[in-house]
Amino acid sequence: MYMKKVILGLIIIFLINDLYTQEYEDYYTRVARHIDWTNPNENYGMIFKIGDLIYLREWGIYHIPNDTEKRNLAYFADRVSHVISFYKYNNLTPIVISSWIRPTSVNAGKLNSLGRIVKDPSNKYNGMDYNAFVGGKAGSLHITGLAVDIIDTGTRPLTNFILSRQDILESCQLWMEDETSATTWVHLDAGERSSVGRPKGRERVFKP
Ligand SMILES: [Zn+2]
Repeated sequence: MYMKKVILGLIIIFLINDLYTQEYEDYYTRVARHIDWTNPNENYGMIFKIGDLIYLREWGIYHIPNDTEKRNLAYFADRVSHVISFYKYNNLTPIVISSWIRPTSVNAGKLNSLGRIVKDPSNKYNGMDYNAFVGGKAGSLHITGLAVDIIDTGTRPLTNFILSRQDILESCQLWMEDETSATTWVHLDAGERSSVGRPKGRERVFKP
């Protein structure tokens, strides 16, 4: 009788635990689980493709993300898509990513004959620090997938657009690096900083 009660108790604990996990699982963890990360051409929202988020341009390879990185990428790309969708509304300039995730320990992926990203165990970049290679700072938000660099040269159309629409950065909870240090690109990230004391209209612009 005693054992039956113990077993029944355990079953109830497991059920409650399962319900709790399902209910409180982070939204983007769930979103990330439903993305086909092996297909670089799969769209994620209106702007980006999965390949954009995980391509390591300087090395010409993909990074196969872990679960935390997938969650970060899904979360952050959603917010960046929102900003860019306002920009794209009246602007045909193509969006070119120069750098998104920059892992400190690369998990190399290559394209197979079907165009799918598969593990590439013999790749020389496995385990190497891509962030350090491209000159990224230690602790950069690029490392975990929470920052992106978008090419923006010449008259800086994207930079100027974002500077004119701080409200979008505010609503998306994103930050832009000051245009005098990000000179030919727009760096956006999901950092946690205080906007107190920053100049009006530049409340979500930071200097590194
Ligand atoms: Zn950056």
